[in-house]
Amino acid sequence: MSTSPSFQPLASLGVVIVAAGSGERLGASQPKAFVELEGSTLLEHAIATVLSLDEPGQLVLVVPESHAATALQLSESFTPSQQGWELSIVAGGRERHESVRKGLDALRDGIATVLIHDAARPLTPRSVFTRVIAEVERSGDAVVPTIPVVDTLKRVDAFGVVRSTADRRVLAAVQTPQGFPYELLVAAHQTAQAREERDAPSNDAPTDDAEVVQRFGGTVRTVPGDARAHKVTTAADLLMLRGLLLEDDA
Ligand code: C5P
Repeated sequence: MSTSPSFQPLASLGVVIVAAGSGERLGASQPKAFVELEGSTLLEHAIATVLSLDEPGQLVLVVPESHAATALQLSESFTPSQQGWELSIVAGGRERHESVRKGLDALRDGIATVLIHDAARPLTPRSVFTRVIAEVERSGDAVVPTIPVVDTLKRVDAFGVVRSTADRRVLAAVQTPQGFPYELLVAAHQTAQAREERDAPSNDAPTDDAEVVQRFGGTVRTVPGDARAHKVTTAADLLMLRGLLLEDDA
């Protein structure tokens, strides 16, 4: 009996963790993703969750050029290849959307679904990742995790005077990972980049990838997010997340 060589299909999931921000508002001596939270850097927390997903794929870490070697060292300690993951590390850009584009450029052929995730959301539970992936695969659209807005939101003018109150029932706070069909996200970013190169610099750079897809005309769907996906911006956010971790250990 002849034996055919075993065929291992290439995984079709790509996960880009953007970790190239300086995190000025945190006031740390390290870029934000390399700040520690209970003994592990924010980046390590995020990597651990991604590598725990059932379906392995390609993981791209977008980091400050100065921290590429550190990122490699941190991530290799998780032995991603033994878990079926391919790992790539690339240097980020000046703005978040530039870092995302560099991450997308590093994805190999054959990726069908791509997640873009902020290293600054280190405790995002695995369940949020799986919800986003499932909804992208079901709908073929872009998908973002959201949580209800709990504060009252006001429109305030340049003089600090309140002009109106937003109806928070139709508002949602958006988190990451955000998920996309690969072709859709790449096409949306290419169109946005061409527009940026053609037009004069403007102040309306997209703050997330869903916005890039929306401007491209794509549909963006939502799935429930999680309070643990809270983003670290200031030292107070780190304290809050530390509290969540300690609660887990209790
Ligand atoms: O600054 P902010 O918290 O909004 O950044 C969100 C995420 O984007 C962070 O994980 C940060 O490291 C990343 N980022 C990046 N490249 C930049 C700016 C931000 O990868 N130039």
